Amino acid sequence: MKITKVEPILIAVPYEHGGPKPMRPFGPWTHMETLFVRVDTDAGITGWGEGFGFAASELTREAVTRVVAPLCVGRDFSDVPSFMADLQRKLHAMGRHGPVSFALAGIDIALWDILGKAKGAPIHRLLGGAGRDRIPTYASLLRYGKPDLVAKYTEAAIGRGYTSIKLHEHLVETVAPGRQAAGPNIAIMVDTNCAWAADEALAMARKLKAYDLAWLEEPVDPVDDYDTMARIRREVGVPVAAGENIGHPGEARYAMEHGALDVFQPSITKIGGIVAIDQAIAVAKQHGVRVMPHSPYFGPGLIATLHVIAARLPDSMCERFYCELEATPLGDAIACRDGHMSVPHGPGLGVTVDERVIARYRVA
Ligand SMILES: [Mg+2]
Repeated sequence: MKITKVEPILIAVPYEHGGPKPMRPFGPWTHMETLFVRVDTDAGITGWGEGFGFAASELTREAVTRVVAPLCVGRDFSDVPSFMADLQRKLHAMGRHGPVSFALAGIDIALWDILGKAKGAPIHRLLGGAGRDRIPTYASLLRYGKPDLVAKYTEAAIGRGYTSIKLHEHLVETVAPGRQAAGPNIAIMVDTNCAWAADEALAMARKLKAYDLAWLEEPVDPVDDYDTMARIRREVGVPVAAGENIGHPGEARYAMEHGALDVFQPSITKIGGIVAIDQAIAVAKQHGVRVMPHSPYFGPGLIATLHVIAARLPDSMCERFYCELEATPLGDAIACRDGHMSVPHGPGLGVTVDERVIARYRVA
């Protein structure tokens, strides 16, 4: 089977999370952007992938169009790991993390979707999985920055059945109401997205220890300051999580050998897709580090994450952004009920992409 066409399709969908829109480097975050990657074949089978994402989407779209697609069209890909290894080798000078890797992820996920459709098997079964039906999922709250809103939406998420909740807060005043609203029996995680320099990160970890965090995520700037992460673990005793910004399995190994991680969070749409996340998970298993994939996005990458967890990670949760989208091309597949997401059992990703929704929200 040969690839006949690769098309990146960017959509932007309005969302609501109940607070002021969080800021990004280029302004307020008003829409959830998803970069779909559509791959067509000479067998008439179409697959769908997703490359990261959000503010990086337009760069990733360019990487698909200009760099990755020309290396794919006309080629046979029946051995996806070999095909992806060849693309990685040809493109390694363009970086092991960033838009080119994100573009490769989009291709990889689409190829697995096609392979599954051709074989009539869901991706988790292609990976040798046991066919689980549901994956425990945590609510990943966007940043509210206001104590009353953190308490309100922590309570709301618990009311909808979540038993683990992640706050994107980085002040004691906004973490404390989350823990208070949750009580002692709900897991609370805090993700700062690298808010603090090293000394401040250590000081803040000491202050946050009282709130019994299941993990403190990306606590330090720069993102690869593994020495400080290791010190937080060793000197403060708060579990540390990171990995969404780790670009390849070798860097994951480096972080783990530094003793930086209690929890490793590879992101399937960033690290390069199913083949690459599988390699990174193997590294974590060698080092005895727990894996909780990063997946706060709404396209085929979220669904591929469910398949990987179903096949490889019996003790892991899925991450889902806690917000309402105006529409989704994946319908019910992205729904979370009672703190669980369903693992699709249809061929490939096991989802139907509603191209009318794609057309309505497509970004030119
Ligand atoms: Mg994070």
